[in-house]
Amino acid sequence: MGARIILLLVDGLGLGTEDSSVNPLHSGACPALLKFLANNATPIDAQLGIPGLPQSATGQTSLLTGVNAQELLNRHVEGFPGPELKEIIREHNIFGQLKKRGLRSTFANAYFLQEGSVLEKKRLWSVTTVAAMHAFGRVRDEKVMAADAAVYQDLTRASLRERGYSGPLVTPEDSADHLVEIAMEYDLTLFEYFQTDRAAHKQDHAKIRRVLQQLDAFIGRLAARAEKDGLLVVLTSDHGNVEDTRTRQHTMNPVPLMAIGEGADDLRARIRSLLDVTPVLVGLLTS
Ligand SMILES: [Zn+2]
Repeated sequence: MGARIILLLVDGLGLGTEDSSVNPLHSGACPALLKFLANNATPIDAQLGIPGLPQSATGQTSLLTGVNAQELLNRHVEGFPGPELKEIIREHNIFGQLKKRGLRSTFANAYFLQEGSVLEKKRLWSVTTVAAMHAFGRVRDEKVMAADAAVYQDLTRASLRERGYSGPLVTPEDSADHLVEIAMEYDLTLFEYFQTDRAAHKQDHAKIRRVLQQLDAFIGRLAARAEKDGLLVVLTSDHGNVEDTRTRQHTMNPVPLMAIGEGADDLRARIRSLLDVTPVLVGLLTS
């Protein structure tokens, strides 16, 4: 049995130029992340042989199933998965693959379900929501988050204020600690972060900087905990975006496969594209 794995899906994080006037990752906002990208990551392919800009619905489906969704649909599909992708996700998602092999996995993201729940609008389910709802029949809600047993996607809960949340805010380091505590109970724990992609689409430079600083604090803390608690932390992305401020759109850049902790070197050597992530992680956990 391999180490406990935390899989971080960071939306819109590619590997681009080192020119800080183009790439905010090189602007001093995220020194820890930059160091890990240099020392603990390899570039992997997000294009998967299909022309055009890689997109989230197909990219995340490929990432979390190991099935080449781009190739099957012959295009990159943005945003939320439609019926064909949903079928692939239900059939092949990593949570289900692990369950079949007697392993425990979970999706750590908190959902704010008090009013106007996203769960009522199936059309707006993300790839991760489809996978989690199919595998577990539920997601973590605000009550679970209040007990610090779920992590809100912005790492601080601050963006929940405008939705009526009046509970305490947390730091990105707190969120890392909460994620580690969740991960200790499972073989694989998935967490999705998409503020990177969102800020980059808006080309809001102050927001991009803040988002990278928060992500940096989170990753720094997770890496320290990985060493101490014997976890394997794996970070990857569905496509590039935040690493190039010259465009509001996604990029053709490779994405990182970053791995820190027990078995990290071996893992990095075996993953070459988004398609390899799920089979290699499942193989590692069952070997
Ligand atoms: Zn995007």
